[in-house]
Amino acid sequence: MSANKNNQVIELPLSLSVRDLSEKLGTNPIEIIKTLMQNGVMANINQLIDYETAEIVAVELGFNVELEKIEQLQADENEIPLWRRMIATEDDANLQKRPPVVTILGHVDHGKTSLLDAIRETSVQEGEVGGITQHISAYQVTHNEKVITFLDTPGHAAFTAMRSRGAQGADVVILVVAADDGVMPQTKEALAHARAAQVPIIVALNKIDKQNANPEFVKQQLAEVGLIPDEWDGDTMVIPVSATQKIGLNDLLEAVSLVADDTEILANPNGKVLGTVIEAEKDSHKGIVATILVQNGTLRKSDILIAGNGFGNIRAMFDYRGNPIDEAPPSTPISVMGLNKVPSAGDIFHTVGSAKEARTIIAERIEKEKSTIVAAHAGLTLESMFDQYQAGEVRELRLIVKADVQGSLEPIISSLEDISANDKEGTIKVKVLHSGTGNITENDVSLAVASRAIIMGFNVDTDNAANIQADRKKIDIRKYNIIYRLIEDVEKALKGMLEPEEREVVTGQAEVRAVFRIRKIGNIAGCRVLKGEIRRNGSIRVIRAGKEIHKDEIISLKHEIEDVKEVREGFECGIGVKGFTEFKAGDVLECFVKEMFKPV
Ligand code: GDP
Repeated sequence: MSANKNNQVIELPLSLSVRDLSEKLGTNPIEIIKTLMQNGVMANINQLIDYETAEIVAVELGFNVELEKIEQLQADENEIPLWRRMIATEDDANLQKRPPVVTILGHVDHGKTSLLDAIRETSVQEGEVGGITQHISAYQVTHNEKVITFLDTPGHAAFTAMRSRGAQGADVVILVVAADDGVMPQTKEALAHARAAQVPIIVALNKIDKQNANPEFVKQQLAEVGLIPDEWDGDTMVIPVSATQKIGLNDLLEAVSLVADDTEILANPNGKVLGTVIEAEKDSHKGIVATILVQNGTLRKSDILIAGNGFGNIRAMFDYRGNPIDEAPPSTPISVMGLNKVPSAGDIFHTVGSAKEARTIIAERIEKEKSTIVAAHAGLTLESMFDQYQAGEVRELRLIVKADVQGSLEPIISSLEDISANDKEGTIKVKVLHSGTGNITENDVSLAVASRAIIMGFNVDTDNAANIQADRKKIDIRKYNIIYRLIEDVEKALKGMLEPEEREVVTGQAEVRAVFRIRKIGNIAGCRVLKGEIRRNGSIRVIRAGKEIHKDEIISLKHEIEDVKEVREGFECGIGVKGFTEFKAGDVLECFVKEMFKPV
């Protein structure tokens, strides 16, 4: 290839290897290495160089270069968490600095819990440590006389929704990456969550005490996902730490302080009292106990609190150490007793003047929930995308792409990105927020919910939990087994040409308990309905060990000996499925009906 030195502008990423640069410029790598040497940089062909260095080399070689568009989300009103939007309604003059709220995200086993525990143990005052033995979901530390609030976002898969909320509730995200393991799928996902919530990120390069730790390699990986370490002139602080050896913890807290000082972290301590529910449970002795984070105003004992669809007079209020307190200013995590219903993690709470007012608000809320479910339903399908775009409701088509192997993922993503590049109107784009190999998981769905994205699967299945979650949250999951069909659908969606399509809507699930042989019909599955309902006019997907093994219409549905139209959760029934007789105890029968989805 010969060097293209005409007026064409070549886009370069924030960092790339010498080899990549030579390919982009169509130049011999030796020439690039020579130019680098002339500029005092000794580099081999695999060495990663940053954009500034690449630019110097490229300009010397006679090229026009430009920084590639960084994978960064545009500010979208819908992505700014509700509590931030509420604080934004406060008069600027009343806003005051408040402690930063920090959350720790990262791949499983990279040390989130250890790090949270280590920070707590080294930072709480002598004598207190013994008192706090069990794991707690939020606490505060003081570093250089400044308070920092830490929030835990449970790492267990069942809590993945919390992770996106964790990022949304935080002012700073610490992304933990194990120095012996590097950037992993959940690291990228956590990064996507933090970016979607537009929260600054600090990287804690953990486990540096390990012999096989390779911090330099991990920094290269970080650079590849757009987190350029500050020592490479990027703007991400990468702090080497060891949670178990308690190394670097002060540096990490210092980094948090620096980022916090650079960011406007404000609230009105005298304003409207509101915040977010972190977790809540019903305790057999204490009643409903909710851990909440006050984000604006000052919550006082005796205030009337409304959270989710419940409310109550605060009976008692405790700080993170379990000490009773009377008031809690912004950024304070506390637990409260007195609500009459268990709120959900992530619910916004606020105070009201009277119980009557609380009841009215809750009644309105319940009505509104009903209608937003319908609206959300229409909001996230590929078919309705174009109309929403025209109505100014969306600016880009956000996708989460999952494929069976890396080899198919790459061509899909590059084709999808081409679509956005070729769009002459220039305003509507495809953005792949997250991609990976393997089944579509609950994680993917929670990211889709948090970022209003559509999930595209190529040759992959959807995990059961993900299906249920997607159905509940009305997330569009589209599965393909031919690449060009996938690309074509996205192209059509961008042009508003996607025809309405018949879609499967899951109504419920039953588990096979026993198998009966009935003359004329064949085998009937004796089931118990686990969720939702089984409908006579529906079809059944037979799922064994997480895999679909058959799909067809219901040919018989009985409760005891009666033919019935539907059977609800908790009841037993006999189900016959067209073309299938080999039921086994333990199979899951998922009932679905077909509905037409039209652009709204
Ligand atoms: P999480 O899943 O991200 O919360 O990770 P954990 O905090 O549970 O840590 C996973 C494992 O890594 C545990 O066995 C920890 O003891 C270990 N671990 C965490 N931090 C360090 C560290 O700094 N050095 C070493 N050697 N091991 C660590």
